[in-house]
Amino acid sequence: MIIVLKPQATEADAKEILNKIESVNLTPLYMPGTERIVLGALGDERVLNGLNIQAHPMVENVKPILSSYKQVSREMQSHDSQVSFGNTVIGGGNFTVIAGPCAVENREQIFQSAAIVKKYGAQGLRGGAFKPRTSPYSFQGLEEEGLKLLQEASKEYGLPCVTEIVDPNHVDMMEDYVDAFQVGARNMQNFKLLKAVGQSQKPTILKRGMSATIEELLLAAEYIYAEGNKNVVICERGIRTYEKATRNTLDLNAVAYIKTKSHLPVIVDPSHGTGIRELVAPMAKAAVACGADGVIVEAHYNPQIALSDGQQSLDENDFSKLMSELKPFIEAAGKRIA
Ligand code: PEP
Ligand code: MN
Repeated sequence: MIIVLKPQATEADAKEILNKIESVNLTPLYMPGTERIVLGALGDERVLNGLNIQAHPMVENVKPILSSYKQVSREMQSHDSQVSFGNTVIGGGNFTVIAGPCAVENREQIFQSAAIVKKYGAQGLRGGAFKPRTSPYSFQGLEEEGLKLLQEASKEYGLPCVTEIVDPNHVDMMEDYVDAFQVGARNMQNFKLLKAVGQSQKPTILKRGMSATIEELLLAAEYIYAEGNKNVVICERGIRTYEKATRNTLDLNAVAYIKTKSHLPVIVDPSHGTGIRELVAPMAKAAVACGADGVIVEAHYNPQIALSDGQQSLDENDFSKLMSELKPFIEAAGKRIA
């Protein structure tokens, strides 16, 4: 529930109520505003109702949070969250383009790909080092060696980098190599991983599971948030439907819907969302139009030799076209390139 205190309430009043909340093992939240102090209490509904908080003389108003996800909901925070990503910020009127290969393959490949990403004005570099592949015989990634190469390319080109984390025990090892974690579609409900990432402060891009509902996606974000990591970015990357013409069905409804229900930034992955290179630019433009805060796209200096996802990766020419075609859409949406 959300507890709005009267304008004359003091810090001591707030503390008294927070102690009461804590004493019954509910999670207390303190949200001082410019005009009023707002408090939160999260946990078992029956215990919440038994607290009788509204009887406190300094409480003006008590509102239940109706969404199943609490802290990431707009009910809890009406203004948009912004998430720092290296030297840039995702959300808050910025449109952020993160690009790079599906996987880090070797030094030449990540450096040449990063050079293209930088040259046409993107803000971030992606590259997988631990690849959760459908087949055990497919390229599994360079692991820690891949993280080292990604970090080197990131530093060389001044592009913050993001990579997928697949193991809760990898948080400490990976933290120093990258600017953000990505939790992939296959791990969206790996609750141990969500909690581990939540206990770090690392910005985290949470991708929608291929069969996950929007509510499940937001509850997964809540897992990270509830552990204390508020630097969460949601990523719509397509869901599995009966349609076979494209790799996935990019659910842009989800972007517009999540924007109304959650304060978290939302980005779109039109590469995995379509699986087809020619569809990446049109769907990236559609992402801007429906209110996304950015896109994450696969770009490779030579997609023909890519070890994974070459069919959906943009080459230099495609990427330069994407960036110039996106510009008027970003301006029309009232956003700026981060
Ligand atoms: C990826 O970004 O390379 C990836 C594997 O994405 P997803 O988890 O969305 O399939
Ligand atoms: Mn990929």
